[in-house]
Amino acid sequence: MTALSIKDLKVQYKIKDKLINAVDGVSLSLEDNESIGIVGESGCGKSTLGLSIIRSLSGGKIESGDVLLDNKSILTMSEEEFGKKVRWKEISMIFQGAMNSLDPVFSIKQQFEEILKEHHHENENHLEIIKKSLDSVGLPMSVLDKFPHELSGGMKQRAVIAMALLLRPKIVIADEPTTALDVLVQAQILSLLKKLKKEGMSLILISHDLGIISEVSDKVGIMYAGKIAEFGTMQDVYSNPKHPYTQALLKSTPKIRGGSDLISLKGNPPNLASPPSGCRFYDRCPQAMEKCRKEPPTIKTKAGYVSCWLYE
Ligand code: SF4
Repeated sequence: MTALSIKDLKVQYKIKDKLINAVDGVSLSLEDNESIGIVGESGCGKSTLGLSIIRSLSGGKIESGDVLLDNKSILTMSEEEFGKKVRWKEISMIFQGAMNSLDPVFSIKQQFEEILKEHHHENENHLEIIKKSLDSVGLPMSVLDKFPHELSGGMKQRAVIAMALLLRPKIVIADEPTTALDVLVQAQILSLLKKLKKEGMSLILISHDLGIISEVSDKVGIMYAGKIAEFGTMQDVYSNPKHPYTQALLKSTPKIRGGSDLISLKGNPPNLASPPSGCRFYDRCPQAMEKCRKEPPTIKTKAGYVSCWLYE
């Protein structure tokens, strides 16, 4: 069953007098117990997409489109209804940068309790609920008396994940959950995300790192300049990438067993305040043609789609 549908979502930021189209017509469906990876360069709109779903955009505005949870729009809910019924309970988010997600002046326990109070769990045994969540990320109860600065990077990240899991949400959005962690802690966090999926959670994993996405995701959306350039199953997109941007991303990712030389993608993404008409990858695409100056068509592939004139 479809857990979450994103329909033609458009999100804008206003910076000085300019409108930035950070997410420009994204549509995706997340099934129960499925994980979708969203990958792309910094500034492509992937974090904005996650923040829009959880309605925590700061300074941004959802211009149009919809997000449906169990076929019900969550964008038309009042802030109060969304806060009570959806945020943390049905959909939660592991925000980018554990240190920034934790409040340095409150103990870990106070930060867990804040969420429980907000969701009217006053009469329940808080410690029991918190223990379940800490157990699932492998943290001892002793972390509750600590302040964020007293925890290692890996422990802080686990604490942030435990908070996201506190109310047992159906969907977790993880934004760069392993950035700035050493490889051993990264591996632990990834196996934790895989475990959550096994336990029935649906995941949206946002990362610039294709390797991390490939470890956890069933499907992947390649995002470029606010749009999804290609979408499909992990295996299909990795073994047979169709969009020239996906091909370039894969060629610029080191392989553990070596292989062909790494190629860096030249140029920069377009300015989203005044994106070019037609394909946004035009200026960097080695296969660009004259007709690419028009908006590319969306072509169905084996298990997804690609937005490119090459497959018309
Ligand atoms: Fe390249 Fe044209 Fe495809 Fe864009 S539409 S990715 S410019 S071939």
